[in-house]
Amino acid sequence: MHLYGTQQIENGHLTIGGVDTVALAKEYGTPLFVYDTALIRQRARGFKETFEKLGVTAQVAYASKAFACVAAYQLAAQENLSLDVVSGGELFTAIKAGFPAERIHFHGNNKSFAELELAFATGIGCIVVDNFYEIALLKEISEEREQKMNILLRVTPGVEAHTHDFITTGQADSKFGFDLNNGQADEAFTQVKDHPYLQLLGLHCHIGSQIFETDGFALAAGKVMAKMGAWKADHGFEATVLNLGGGFGIRYTEEDKPLEPHIYVEEMIKSVQREAKELKLSMPEIWIEPGRSLVGDAGTSLYTVGSQKTVPGIREYIAVDGGMSDNIRPALYDAKYEAAIANKADQVKDATYTVAGKLCESGDKLLIDAALQQAEAGDILAMFCTGAYGYSMASNYNRVPRPAVVFVESGEHQLAIQRESYEDLVVNDLPLTLKKGE
Ligand SMILES: *Cc1c(COP(=O)(O)O)cnc(C)c1O
Repeated sequence: MHLYGTQQIENGHLTIGGVDTVALAKEYGTPLFVYDTALIRQRARGFKETFEKLGVTAQVAYASKAFACVAAYQLAAQENLSLDVVSGGELFTAIKAGFPAERIHFHGNNKSFAELELAFATGIGCIVVDNFYEIALLKEISEEREQKMNILLRVTPGVEAHTHDFITTGQADSKFGFDLNNGQADEAFTQVKDHPYLQLLGLHCHIGSQIFETDGFALAAGKVMAKMGAWKADHGFEATVLNLGGGFGIRYTEEDKPLEPHIYVEEMIKSVQREAKELKLSMPEIWIEPGRSLVGDAGTSLYTVGSQKTVPGIREYIAVDGGMSDNIRPALYDAKYEAAIANKADQVKDATYTVAGKLCESGDKLLIDAALQQAEAGDILAMFCTGAYGYSMASNYNRVPRPAVVFVESGEHQLAIQRESYEDLVVNDLPLTLKKGE
């Protein structure tokens, strides 16, 4: 059984951060997300310290759509990370958390006027500009407020990285960014380069997710830096920032073979240095945006096993007290995970179960034909590597309250997000006031 971070098996129970998960399930209830914050710190340092060691000025921005809450933002601040937000709601949460505004970067393909106003009002460090409509809004807001704002232009370099390979044409059909190859990026540059309040720092690209190779990043860096070279030659503009996005892969199952953070960073630096030398550009700051790779394998979901159903000759189901409402990835993307019975973690996995959720959808299955210990009602099922795009995509489908989230480290545990109550579910509901028709 693969254990992540500080996970151990003690007295037959799975522990995380020195805390018994069965006891956590009892104290906080299930479904429960448990985050190994030491592992998050280790990953953050793996990225940051590699830049420092190699003397490259950098920002490592936590792409917080993977898992956003006040305590997560405070943890990112403790680790001196920067922060990517993609909505007014994430930005508001970050400010509430006391995250340093100058290290917040704002992404999104349809930022509203109100969201951009909030970005100016809170004085964030950078807006990653996605489209021409946004340029017009930014000009209007910055001129009205007479306030400067750092910007990057998001471009699509025509490199789309997948888990084990990349394609070099596929990305043109993307809802994000200015196309680097058809003149859109040049037009965007022309529109912002001499603006009195919009301070263009450089370019951004994000080529995919769950990437296990470094070639895609190198290729994208080459294409984006070629454009930087052209803008320097043609307009005397020297970009100071190259943002290469996120997408660093993690291990969900034994088929996934991720690289250590330092490998991604070292290879990126090498290719940027090589391109800078070739193009006679000064070395830009490198910004990266890991999301999944900071929090993904640090998160474990705990559920209580309830009903069981045998479909003779086909499969055995066990059902748990959560499902697609707290982890939609299996239903949405066929995402694969591994799991164990937390209170029988030292026993062999000699059973095969399909783990169903409790939501009213046939597709609400968390695991298909998974190897597990023999299960019975009341057991605690631990599903691994659910820290990214789990809670952050949670819903109240079927009016199921969203789970609680607990952080554990060095034998201590704390609630990071309370479990929703039934009262929370109706807090925004209003009574019917329309009169019944005659
Ligand atoms: C989602 C996203 C990321 C993070 O992706 P991960 O796969 O979670 O690392 C980074 N940058 C941008 C622009 C994104 O949209």
